[in-house]
Amino acid sequence: MEPREFKYIYGPVYSWRLGMSLGIDPVTQKSKICNFDCVYCQLGRTVQWTTQREEFVSVDAIMEEIHALAPMAIDYYTFSGRGEPTLAKNLGAMIQALRQAGKGKIAVITNAALIDQPDVQKDLSLADFVLVKLDACDQASLEAIDVPASGITFLNIVDGIKSFQRNFSGRLALQMMFMAGNISLAARIAELAREIRPDEIQLNTPLRPSVVSPVSEEELKALKKHFTGLPVVTVYEAERKEARPLDDKATVRRHGNFKKGKVHLNAP
Ligand code: SF4
Repeated sequence: MEPREFKYIYGPVYSWRLGMSLGIDPVTQKSKICNFDCVYCQLGRTVQWTTQREEFVSVDAIMEEIHALAPMAIDYYTFSGRGEPTLAKNLGAMIQALRQAGKGKIAVITNAALIDQPDVQKDLSLADFVLVKLDACDQASLEAIDVPASGITFLNIVDGIKSFQRNFSGRLALQMMFMAGNISLAARIAELAREIRPDEIQLNTPLRPSVVSPVSEEELKALKKHFTGLPVVTVYEAERKEARPLDDKATVRRHGNFKKGKVHLNAP
């Protein structure tokens, strides 16, 4: 029998934060679709900009692929992919369908650009684990590092994360990508983390192929001191394990070269 091709699911890959993670791409498009254009993005520059939530893929199409999977050990079903998953306005319906199918734990990796919106918070609250990006400490650094679409403000992002955290019963992680451009901001980002009080803080650096160079293990260890007393982990301390994706090409399109570093940082 010919191997089955999957359009919307990819991996599994071994993620340092999620264990064996099966990716689900709810915005599947030819090119990345996002409301940020992070300078380190492993998916290349943002061409399809949008801040409007839309239905890109039907819940049935996702679930048909999930049901067609051969049995395998999965720690998390992770919404991520080739762009920002909260742009899918049926994200909540997808999470509910997975839940009803009894598929196990569900994670969403988001850039938090829309997290101040009640409909986005409602969808995210259905997940077990939400991982939000925090690379900046003010509007200027947000614009320099994450390059948001017009209208997205740092204040709304931070207020949105705080209000989401107050009502969320699952696990919340802040993920921070450090590089030369924001390493000097670590103390101010740590102050924000103390206000947000997440369950976990992940200090990361672009180890996957990127136009931005990673900071060294020593530099990341040094900036970890700003987070003393907080539940912090760094990517260099991560356990590394091999995974066997369903389809190598589909995984690389969303995830960068998953074989190169064998440790997976951004998605899923
Ligand atoms: S890293 Fe994520 S949020 Fe940033 S541009 Fe790439 S897909 Fe969008």
